[in-house]
Amino acid sequence: MDRKLAEAAALLSRSSRAYAFTGAGVSTESGIPDFRSPGTGLWSNPKLLSLATGDALQREPARFYNVFLPQWLAYRQAVPNPAHKAIAGLEAIGRLSGVVTQNIDGLHRKAGSQVVWEVHGHLRHLVCSSCQRPASFAVAEEALQKGALPPRCRCGGVVRPDVVLFGEAMAPDFDRALTVLRQGCELMLIVGSSLAVYPAASLVRFADALIIVNRDPTPYDDQAVVLRGSAGEIVPELLKSVVGSR
Ligand SMILES: [Zn+2]
Repeated sequence: MDRKLAEAAALLSRSSRAYAFTGAGVSTESGIPDFRSPGTGLWSNPKLLSLATGDALQREPARFYNVFLPQWLAYRQAVPNPAHKAIAGLEAIGRLSGVVTQNIDGLHRKAGSQVVWEVHGHLRHLVCSSCQRPASFAVAEEALQKGALPPRCRCGGVVRPDVVLFGEAMAPDFDRALTVLRQGCELMLIVGSSLAVYPAASLVRFADALIIVNRDPTPYDDQAVVLRGSAGEIVPELLKSVVGSR
């Protein structure tokens, strides 16, 4: 591990256009479950999977909210862990130019990352599905307490989270990230993603070199410097090693 860590730190130290790419595994140590993990997998439950779609939100908005709103409210309370903080730290010292994340938990921004593309959206606010007016989560919490889900906009439209549900188009940040990465990406630091969710994982192909920090194997391991284990332990070690080599 020490040799691999040194190799990864050297790559980060010499790459001038490096970006992080993160998935659920960067946030599990903040108490947010990885839905695709065996055992804990929310999406391995076919009923829930079929409910997390744009169609289900339209068809059964009350049921949709009853299932997902309590989770989102919990995610909104989550705090960044050492992996998020170290990624922000690598940006602060000029070793990362931004972070592309598959997560909707907002923890990179909370950790201080400045350039963040949330390709599956975020939970900072809700948005009306009819008039697109933003709404606060307080509207949804109030509707939950009153037993009056789904929350509705002044215009009568159902308010929805600003996240990408199954079967929906990617968030505008996806195209923004794509445009930037196409201009050149010397290195991608992948943290906590099994690189199995498309089209997000397709962004990896723009990178000249890869570092992968993940608990499980990925389809790109043979092209990468792989650091296997806890993101909350490894990414801070990487930051320390990069700082130490300056
Ligand atoms: Zn509206």
